[in-house]
Amino acid sequence: RISEDQLRIKEQKQRVGEFMAKIGIMGGTFDPIHYGHLVAAQEAFYQFKLDKIIFMPTGIPPHKKREEVLGARQRYLMTIMATEDNENFEVSDIEVNKNSPSYTVETLRDLKKIYKNTDFYFITGADAILEILAWKKPEEVATLTKFVAVTRPGFALDEFRSSIKSMNPAPELLEIEAPALATSSTDIRKRVKEDRTIRYLLPDKVWRYIYNKGLYR
Ligand code: ATP
Ligand code: MG
Repeated sequence: RISEDQLRIKEQKQRVGEFMAKIGIMGGTFDPIHYGHLVAAQEAFYQFKLDKIIFMPTGIPPHKKREEVLGARQRYLMTIMATEDNENFEVSDIEVNKNSPSYTVETLRDLKKIYKNTDFYFITGADAILEILAWKKPEEVATLTKFVAVTRPGFALDEFRSSIKSMNPAPELLEIEAPALATSSTDIRKRVKEDRTIRYLLPDKVWRYIYNKGLYR
C-alpha cells in the first residue's frame, strides 16, 4: 500500500499532467450484481494496474424494457453492498440520478470533466459488444475510453474483435481472461423465481437483501 505522502505527490503530478491516472469503469444494469461482475473488475484492476474501479449502475437502460428492470435505487444499493469492503472499488450515481436513458457517451463526457489527466478503461463482457455498437455516438466513445474485453464462457471473442475493428475510429481494445464464471443476473432472477438457491453466486449481503425485500419473486 502506498503512503499518504506518495499519494499526494501522485495527485499533484496528475493535476499538472505529468502523470495519467488509470480508472476502470464497470458499467452494467446490475440487476442484481454478482460475482461475475466483481471478479471481472478485480482482474482488470490487477492486470492493468488501475488506480480504482468505478461501478456505474445504469439508470434507465436504453436497450432493455423498462418494466422488466428493477428500480435504479435498489440496483444502486445492492452495488454498494457488494463493493463496500473493497477499498479499490467505488460506485457512481451519475447514471442512476438521470431521468433519461443512460448513454455511455454522456457518462464518459461527465467523467472526463471530473477526472483530469485520466485514462479510462471501460470493462465489458464479450457479449456486451452488440450493445456497444448500438450506443449513441460509438465513434466518440472510442475517443473517450479504452476497452477491456473480459472473456465469458459461451461468448466468442472473435465476434467482439471484428465488431470493434469495424468501428471508425476503432477504440483501443485490451483483452483479459477472468476465471470462468457462468453466473448471469438473468440466471439469478430466474432462480429466485423458481425458489432455487442463489447463495455463493453473489455476496451474502446482496442475497439477504433480495430475500428480505422479496425481490424477483
Ligand atoms: P443480464 O443477465 O440481466 O443481462 P448480466 O449478468 O449480463 O445481466 P449486466 O449488468 O448486463 O449483467 O452486465 C454488466 C457487464 O458485466 C457486461 O459488460 C457483461 O458482459 C459483464 N458480465 C456479466 N456477467 C459476467 C460474468 N459472469 N463474467 C464476466 N463478465 C460479466
Ligand atoms: Mg447482460
